[in-house]
Amino acid sequence: LRSECKRGFFMVNDRRTKIAVLSIGDELMYGEIADTNFAHIAARLYSCGLPVERHPTVGDDAEAIASELRGLIAAADAVIITGGLGPTSDDRTAAAAADAFSRPLQLNREALAHIKRFAGRHGGEISTADEKQAHIPAGADLIHNPTGTASGFIIPADACRFFFLPGVPREMTLMLEETVLPALLALQEDTRICRTKVLNVFGPSEAEVGTLLEELASPADGVSVAFCVEFPVIQVKLRAEGEDAAAVANSLVTAAERARALLDDWVFAEDDDTIDTVVAGLLQEKGLTLAFAESCTGGLLAKRITDVSGSSAYFLEGAVTYSDSSKIRYLNVPESLLEKKGAVSSEVAAAMAVGVRNASGSDIALSVTGIAGPDGGTQEKPVGTVFISLADHDTCETRNFLFNGDREAIRTITAFSALDWLRRHLLAR
Ligand code: ATP
Ligand code: MG
Repeated sequence: LRSECKRGFFMVNDRRTKIAVLSIGDELMYGEIADTNFAHIAARLYSCGLPVERHPTVGDDAEAIASELRGLIAAADAVIITGGLGPTSDDRTAAAAADAFSRPLQLNREALAHIKRFAGRHGGEISTADEKQAHIPAGADLIHNPTGTASGFIIPADACRFFFLPGVPREMTLMLEETVLPALLALQEDTRICRTKVLNVFGPSEAEVGTLLEELASPADGVSVAFCVEFPVIQVKLRAEGEDAAAVANSLVTAAERARALLDDWVFAEDDDTIDTVVAGLLQEKGLTLAFAESCTGGLLAKRITDVSGSSAYFLEGAVTYSDSSKIRYLNVPESLLEKKGAVSSEVAAAMAVGVRNASGSDIALSVTGIAGPDGGTQEKPVGTVFISLADHDTCETRNFLFNGDREAIRTITAFSALDWLRRHLLAR
């Protein structure tokens, strides 16, 4: 029985659809743009249990495209191609496909009607260039493009299916969701189910997170763990795979609980939640209001908190008080304090938090003052020195940090640290 099971397991794996993504464009080969189309397609497919196996990239060169397409017929079960379906002479994908699959380009009535409808909607006549987009390889099935003129198309070649999509990210994304993904899922003969959960961690380094989770490194029950850095966040990605949906869900919950227990309160959010949305949720839940006084972050905190829609319910104001005189004028920081302690000091940070809290009438206020560099550091207060204060009804606490990195990194981690402190403060209230 055991060997039967094992064989069954391998057979299932054997039948997994082999997927390739072919990116096309000179811009990609010259490094002028990053291949975000590929990143999107690969992530989306992976989340559906369809990992991409290979990813060639070629420029806008018809021969190179055709040769890549021919090579993929035997190497993959499904190929997604993006780029080069446009109306201009540097868009050569359809011609290359015609060559590779020996299917001459033909005027496709449906594609032409789509272009006319689309151009009509935008109030224009269609040009010869537009009409070029209606010429697709003979016998191909069209992929509807809801937001652009270029139809995509599907060509079968031996046992492999080729899905041609435009390069424009918005168009490609919609067509992937509406047509390509459902078709790929239908191709998938096996019924393996895959689920993922992401734990977002702030505080320890990637190596420390790895050490904390050592015992989870090779979990027995079909769960794997991977680490990813989205500075300053470490993402712990748990992935469970199996044939039974309930068992897969169970393994994932168990693994996530164990990981959370090992990581303690370093985990600030799960999946798509961010520090901003978590803090927003807590402020709303507790019915508390917030204000900021920022120096070295220059409004970064206010930006982040107002990135969340509905923030006017709890965020009252943020003062960017960069100069000494603005700290005196708006926050009532005593001039003598600035002279004696300097703008980057725990005393001034505290006076800023209390000052903005008094001025705004908020429940909680956070202030930030520091040296983001690369200039301005001293022996006593090197670049990366940051003071953050948190004031509420009865207390004002100040913390001193020393961060590493360039100006952007220091400002980012400063804002993040302030928000994470706020999160912990709100949880403890
Ligand atoms: P168009 O009608 O705009 O010519 P197209 O299907 O011919 O569309 P491309 O010309 O290859 O596609 O690309 C159009 C634009 O889409 C590019 O200028 C680029 O900004 C973006 N783009 C193309 N490929 C990618 C990619 N792989 N990743 C991210 N952006 C891309
Ligand atoms: Mg183009």
